[in-house]
Order: sequence, then structure tokens, then C-alpha cells
Amino acid sequence: GKARLSQVTKAETTCNYCAVGCRFDLYGKDGEVLGVRPAEDAKSAPANDFSTCVKGKFGYEFANSDDRLDTPLIKEDGEFREATWEEAIDEIHENLTAIREEHGTDSIAVTSSSKATNEENFLNQKFARQVLQTPHVDNCARLCHSSTVAGLQQTVGYGAMATRINEDVGETDCYLITGSNTTESHPVLATRIKQNARDGADLFVFDPRKVGLAEHATQYSRTRPGSDIAWINGMVHHIISEGLHDEEFIENRTKHFDELKEKVEPFTPERVEELTSVPPEELKEAAETIAKADTCIFGWAMGMTQHAHGTRNVLAMTNLALVTGNMGKPGAGLSPFRGQNNVQGGGGDMGPAPHTLPGYQDLEDDEVLDKFEDAWGVRPPDRVGLRLPEQYEAMAEGEIRGMYIMGENPALSEPDSTEAQQAVQQLDFLAVQDIFLTETAEYADVVLPAASAAEKSGTFTNTERRIQRVRPAIDPPGQAKSDLDILTRLADRFGYEWDYDDPSDVMAEISSLVPIYGGVDYDRLAEEDGSLQWPVWDADHAGTPYLYEKEFNFEDGLARFVPADYAGPKEMPDEEYPLMLTTGRVLYHWHTGTMTRRVEALMHSVPESFVTIHPNMAETLGVKDGEYVRVHSRRGSIVVRADVEETSDEGVVFIPMHFARGAVNELTSHETDPTSFIPEYKVSSVRIEPLGAD
Ligand code: SF4
Repeated sequence: GKARLSQVTKAETTCNYCAVGCRFDLYGKDGEVLGVRPAEDAKSAPANDFSTCVKGKFGYEFANSDDRLDTPLIKEDGEFREATWEEAIDEIHENLTAIREEHGTDSIAVTSSSKATNEENFLNQKFARQVLQTPHVDNCARLCHSSTVAGLQQTVGYGAMATRINEDVGETDCYLITGSNTTESHPVLATRIKQNARDGADLFVFDPRKVGLAEHATQYSRTRPGSDIAWINGMVHHIISEGLHDEEFIENRTKHFDELKEKVEPFTPERVEELTSVPPEELKEAAETIAKADTCIFGWAMGMTQHAHGTRNVLAMTNLALVTGNMGKPGAGLSPFRGQNNVQGGGGDMGPAPHTLPGYQDLEDDEVLDKFEDAWGVRPPDRVGLRLPEQYEAMAEGEIRGMYIMGENPALSEPDSTEAQQAVQQLDFLAVQDIFLTETAEYADVVLPAASAAEKSGTFTNTERRIQRVRPAIDPPGQAKSDLDILTRLADRFGYEWDYDDPSDVMAEISSLVPIYGGVDYDRLAEEDGSLQWPVWDADHAGTPYLYEKEFNFEDGLARFVPADYAGPKEMPDEEYPLMLTTGRVLYHWHTGTMTRRVEALMHSVPESFVTIHPNMAETLGVKDGEYVRVHSRRGSIVVRADVEETSDEGVVFIPMHFARGAVNELTSHETDPTSFIPEYKVSSVRIEPLGAD
């Protein structure tokens, strides 16, 4: 008994699925994850206390999978062979150097990963900017909340959730939730909302799909996909015309109200109904309740952001929060629910993005550039690089020739993925660093085996800007290494000596260069309830539980109303493709499924891709529940099982994003938002062909 027990490791860590940032104890032994148990002290688990969802509880089994990469691979004559670390690193160094010499620094692009820690994401962009000296570094936030960040930075200042999960989202008087399937994508957060609604808070859900949360709503309003600007502007208009806006707040804390007032005038309840299908009584009821509530939370996710007008959606929502005075006080505020475990920190704050340095610092500001140059001995490129969708175009055109991808699976996650796969195949050289041989890694010239979150140390920042520790329960399999170790070794091969003994050394560099992380260090994070919410300006600053209490993040401290002109989806149904397709998640899976498709319990629940079709439409098409159908768009076609269920209008169908067979992004369009470059995953046109029996 005793000897065996002593080998069991308990790691107090943070979930590696969604950005709720649940904390728990992860147990491991002899290289195998054993399981998850609630933290012993709820204080160390501020977002979740003792709860977790099914992914957090059972989802770690992927770490034990036989499919884990455990040695570097080099492709020779189209086949992978096992290689030593030295060979693999040499191969990457040689090829990227040759490309750079022939085509210049800007012919190489780097992709970072919001699955990885803050420290690793910081090093990823450092590798791009210091070692390769390319401005083309980006990450999956481009595909999920880049429009949230772009919208909030223009209006209130910080591209982040303004509130706390527990004390604000869990305690508010009123919710407007839209474009978020919260029960499936942020389960523990959804539980808070449901409990509070049961205790009397008003809950308004506006969504094309009657998502799980709608069952608990005061009112569910079905919207037409991509029509959000209209109903949100309509609410603002109704609130102003009824005199229900918060005049004092508008006067003291905002500017440009008159412009907004004029721009929303055309959005009468009748016009809104035409554009969105929301009945006037429902619009008015929601608007009036929100305006009269003492506190209101505005929650959204990809249903708002993944549109060719995603940034404008966020501007509209911000206007609604500001006219009702729902910012800068407990229980109120704009609350975008971030997706990946560490997309707020790794994808945003750490700056692996082509238009901003770490901490959202301006890459054209000489003082900022001087600071980085002093620290790194190299001046970061002072020009805006290409965003992910632009990078894939540049690859297709032969302008980007080399690519280094850390923990991202664009072969499935890019819109119009067949085209993205063709672009990747045109590269002279592709290196992929991942925990599995993903659909993307198959195309690589060199594959490096990485450690999973169960095997490493660092920090994640959750959706409420809370920086929390990640700790290892087991060792990585075989020769796999953490992203931090791999990047350090690679930089060394390029002649840059990175002197980090431990992730805490990287955090020390981050806090010296990134003001909003100025007071973050591992000692503070090791204390009993030692998480910190940014901004944390210095060692004496306690962090910032909710944003904008006294001022917005601008020199004059005032929020800006930026009116949002109406725009609908780029691709609308027509005779050939009469149905609207929307995409999203299910509870049991995660993103491109590389992890969850390797967990038996999760696969048992949802084993394959499907398309949800309204019963009337299924009857018209002659499709029965459970039969296979072929779904066609202008980009391609996939075969999936029909799930006949009434969640949306007859004209709208849904396919989840998690599968390689029946991969929905073979259908989606690559229209993007002009400000944030987010693709319009949420609306494209399709037709369904029945295939008969199953
Ligand atoms: Fe993990 Fe999110 Fe589930 Fe919490 S809610 S256990 S963070 S996936």
C-alpha cells in the first residue's frame, strides 16, 4: 500500500478545456493520469468551487492515449521516420534559415496556441519577433473573439470580460445572453446563471437556436442568423425613446451619445421584426426589463463574433450596456465568454498577434519598441503582420513559404478548410509541434512531440482575466517536451540564448515588459487563494476584480459610443443552396476534437458528426432521424448523420465543429470581418441531399 501510494502525484491545477478556468486536483502515477478530484479548499477554486463539467472530470484521458507523439518525426519521401531531437531541430533551423535567406524574414509565419501556457505563448511570439524577426505571428483568438477584442478596445478600452464569474455573473439581477450555447460550451458558468435565474434573476436569451439555457429563460427570442445588429440597435432605440436610458451615467462617463441616438432611430420595433423575426412585444419586454434592472450582465460568445460584421455586433452590444449604465459596478457589465482555457492570456495578453505586442502594447510606439529591444537585443518588427486568414492567402500565393505551427489544427479549423489544406501543401517547409499527429501535422516536414497540460508547469488566464497556476501530474511520454523547452532549444539553435530554468523566470520577463501583468509572480500565485485578475500593476497591487470602476481605459477615462450600422450575412440562401448553416460546439467535445475524440466516455456520448434539421424540413426533404445525408455548399460537401430536432427555424441547420469525418469547415465560407479578420463561420448557405437508409 504505502509504496504504491507514494508514487501517486497530486497536482493542484487548472482545467485545460474551457476558459471558465475550473481548478481541481489532477492525480497521476507512472506516466498515466488517474483522474480529477475537487480541490480540497474551495478558496483555491474561485470560478468553480467544487464543481466541474464532464470534460474537466473525464476529459484528461487523452493524455494517456497510445496515439501520443513521443518522438520527433522527419518526413522523407512522403513518409515520417523517427528522429532524434538534434536532427529535428537541425532540420527546422536549416530550412527556415534557407527560406529566410532566399525570400526574406516576411516569408515565414508562426502560429501560437491558446491551449499552451502564458509563458509558452510569450515565448512563441518572442521566437517569431526576436529569432525569426517576422511580424507574422497569430493564434486561434483570430477565429473566435478577435472581433470582441476589436470592438471593446474602441469603446471601453480593454479587450476582455469586465466582470467576475462568481460575484458578478453569478449575482446579477438580469441577463442578456446571445450567441452563446453556455450550457455546452461553458458548463460551470451556465450552472451559475441557471441557479441565479432560479433565484429570481431575469434571463433573456436571443439566439437562432433554442439552446439549453433558453429552457431556464424568462424569455427566449429566436433570431435570424447574422441579424444581431438590428435587434440590439432596436433595444437601444426603444430604451432611449421610452426615456429609460441612464442619463447620469451617459453624461459623466461616456461621449458621442448624440451620434448613437441618431443612428439607432431607424431601428423601430417593426423594422427589427422584418430583419430579425423577433416580435415587437418580445423586443420591448427585454429592452425595458434590462433598462430597469439595477444590474445586468451582457454575455456572448461565437454567435456574436464569427460574422463578417462581428466587430459591429460587439459595438452594438457595448452601446446597450453603456446606455443602461451597466458598467463599472458589481453585478453588471460586458461579459464575453472566452473559449479556450488560455485564449485570454495566451492568445490575447501575451501578444502572439500580428498587430500588437504583449499586453496590447502598440507595435508602432518607439518607447515600447525600445523597451523590448533593451530586453531582447533585437527590435521587434514595427509593422503589422498578416492575420491568419491573410496568411493562408499569402501561402496560396507563394508569399509565405515557411510555417511553424504550435498546437493548432488549421486543416480542420480554418474556414473553407479544403482551400486551407491546399495552401499548407504549397509551403516549402512546415514544422508542427503538437501532442498528436493532427490532420495538420500530417502535412508537416518535421513534427515535434509536445507535453500536454497534465505534464507541465505554468499559468493560464481564464475568461475573467484570472491568472492561475498549472502544475504537472505526470511526466510527458517518451521524449516529448513542453512547448517552453522546445522553443528554448530551438531559439538556442538559432544562436539566441534564452536563460530560463523554470516557467517562473519567463513570468518574471513578462511582468517586466507587460504592464497589466506587472505584479504577477509565482510566489503570489502560490498563496492559498493566490490567483490574480489583471490589470495587476505592481507587486503591491491586488489586481482588478471588475473593470472600469472609476474610469474606462482611455486617457480621458470616458467610454465611447460607436454606432453600429446594420449589415447582414455575406452569403444568403438562394435556390441552389436554400438553407442557412450555422456551426458550434457540443458539451462532450472540444474544438477540432484532437483531445476529446480520444476519450472513450466522451466518444460514447457523441461518436460522430451530425446535422440538426427541423422536423418539418426533414419531412420536406424525406430525411429520417439517424439517416446519413450529404450536405453541400459552394466550397464542398460532407456526409453526416441527420439529427431531427426542433432547435432552430426550418431554414436553419446546425453542424458541430469537432470532427475530422464530416468536417464542417469544408462547407464554411472564408468571408471575414474587415476590422478583426474573423471568418464568418456562423452563416453559410447549404443544401441537403438525402442518402436513404442508414
Ligand atoms: Fe473545464 Fe470548462 Fe468544464 Fe470547468 S466548465 S471543467 S473549465 S471544461
